[in-house]
Amino acid sequence: MKALMLVCDGMADRPVRELKGRTPLEVAKKRNMDALARRGITGILDPIAPGVRVGSDTTHLALLGYDPYEVYTGRGPFEAAGVGLKLRQGDIAFRCNFATVDENWVVLDRRAGRISRGTDELARAINRIKIPGVEIIFKESVSHRGVLILRGKKLSHKVSDSDPHVTGEKVRKVRALDASPEARKTASIVNAFSEKVHKVLRGQPANMLLLRGCGASPRLQPFKEKYGISGACIATTGIIKGIARLAGMEVIEAKQDYSARIKQGLGTLNRYDFLLMNIKEPDEASHDHDAKKKIQLIEEIDKALKPLLEFSKKNYLLLLSDHTTSLAYGDHTGDSVPVVLCGPEARTDYVKKFDERSTAKGGLGRIKGQDLMPLLLDLMNRSEKFGA
Ligand SMILES: [Zn+2]
Repeated sequence: MKALMLVCDGMADRPVRELKGRTPLEVAKKRNMDALARRGITGILDPIAPGVRVGSDTTHLALLGYDPYEVYTGRGPFEAAGVGLKLRQGDIAFRCNFATVDENWVVLDRRAGRISRGTDELARAINRIKIPGVEIIFKESVSHRGVLILRGKKLSHKVSDSDPHVTGEKVRKVRALDASPEARKTASIVNAFSEKVHKVLRGQPANMLLLRGCGASPRLQPFKEKYGISGACIATTGIIKGIARLAGMEVIEAKQDYSARIKQGLGTLNRYDFLLMNIKEPDEASHDHDAKKKIQLIEEIDKALKPLLEFSKKNYLLLLSDHTTSLAYGDHTGDSVPVVLCGPEARTDYVKKFDERSTAKGGLGRIKGQDLMPLLLDLMNRSEKFGA
């Protein structure tokens, strides 16, 4: 018996004024999602806790059963794992932007003109930088982005960003965020690093790296060890891939087309017990305040889900949104999201539609992200008994 957790990123929404108070899920024609709602047990889910505005990273950790408050110290390490860098215990990692600064380190362009070529050469120059007592591992990723790992003894992730997050301001001096000698030492290393980066990139359009989101390499109990089942992940977003990698799951490059991707997922489940699949696009439509696009994407995704009706006769399927992304607000909000769990022994309820309001009447009631894996393992008869 296999299990698929299908996460449509940011698909849930608040009632939208231009949709006459309905949500995109309530407006979209989505026969397959509704069929799954009829067949499964539905509910609403608080990704972490009611009203907590989550990132896609913290919510995916919770959906996989990890406590984000315990394992998440910053985005950096997850991004680093997402681009394929191997983290070790004690490492700290930052997300980086190639940027353009003037002679006084005032930021002229936070993305260095969205530089797309030649960043591999810049990366080589950065990786040649030497700072005593610390190893520097930098990797460029998409466009102007990159990740930096610092490896050495007694480093702390409790340091501030060098990224001022706006143009027209100076690159910030990185500060210790607590009174520990480790944080002070790390801050001075990072500031020395910034000086050297500016030196080796002098004369380039991208003449600085802006650092943010420092985090410590997290200790995630491997998925297989935690649950006794093997896991894989299909996603397009670096951070989701990073989480899966750090959880010891196999990461598979996603096919673009939704139908092809669902088939790819079902094929992957021949080799693994559990698959996490993330479909990113609905979230992006909400960030762009594009209601029409969001509805269209939901309908496109829905069409690709037909094979899941067959799949969920013998296996388990979880369909959900990882958080609400509000079209009006243009960002994640702390609202609950709809969820349906389908499979041979799921206790069907009376809900007939997959949307925010309909599933609120479902048999799962109101649950949290971290409840999903126990529910799934129990239905798969894979969970251990508590007590005699
Ligand atoms: Zn998300």
